[in-house]
Amino acid sequence: MDFMPVIQRLTEGWGAKVGLSVALTIAYEDHAQIFAAFQFLKICRARGLTRRERLSKWHAVEAALAKLRARAPMGKETNNMERIPIVETYLDIDHNQLITRRVTDQIVIHHTGNPTDDDLSAAEIDASHKGQGWTCIGYHYVVRKDGTVEQGRPHWTVGAHAYMQNAHTIGIHVCGNFEEAETTDEQIESLAMLLANLCTDYGLPIDRDHIVGHRELMATACPGRNLYEMMDTVVGKANFYAVQ
Ligand SMILES: [Zn+2]
Repeated sequence: MDFMPVIQRLTEGWGAKVGLSVALTIAYEDHAQIFAAFQFLKICRARGLTRRERLSKWHAVEAALAKLRARAPMGKETNNMERIPIVETYLDIDHNQLITRRVTDQIVIHHTGNPTDDDLSAAEIDASHKGQGWTCIGYHYVVRKDGTVEQGRPHWTVGAHAYMQNAHTIGIHVCGNFEEAETTDEQIESLAMLLANLCTDYGLPIDRDHIVGHRELMATACPGRNLYEMMDTVVGKANFYAVQ
């Protein structure tokens, strides 16, 4: 959403710095409107505008913002898209060992890959990863064969799922061996809705630059050819869910 030109036009002659700070505040802060109002009052006072003049200018700002928000909804408070239920798994995690992720610009899709086409729970993967000496499950989400989405490690922490790429990515594990087996329809729908939710929450475009298969980051078969072939479909469906 591009507030900048509108705000700059509206605040023309009030000083570029002020227009810019109002625009930035509104675009990136939750309680933007309140903060913007304070900024606005400060300018008005500085420029000696009357109460009446202030009101009419503020109404113009508000009307423009309302129009912009209606045209390009973004963030949780303006988007009523359906959200996938996440099953809380209450894994035993030593949070002191986890690091907060500072950047999120990609979501990486994985599969299980065991020859037996397993449908492992987040708890089972957690136990297995702890057995390898890791703090806890390396993935942020697990999508079971029946479409249930289980919570892995907290979504805001650095994961352990993609070598050298963990600092800026979210890892989603889809259960099965997709070199051999096919994904279930339930998995595809749940994965698409989860991606729609996450991309919206993190402000990421829902496209193939930001949603990748593990094999696009390093030499691995993961997430298996059958799921990899479905990636365009999944991203298309995610776009559909995001505009609901
Ligand atoms: Zn993988």
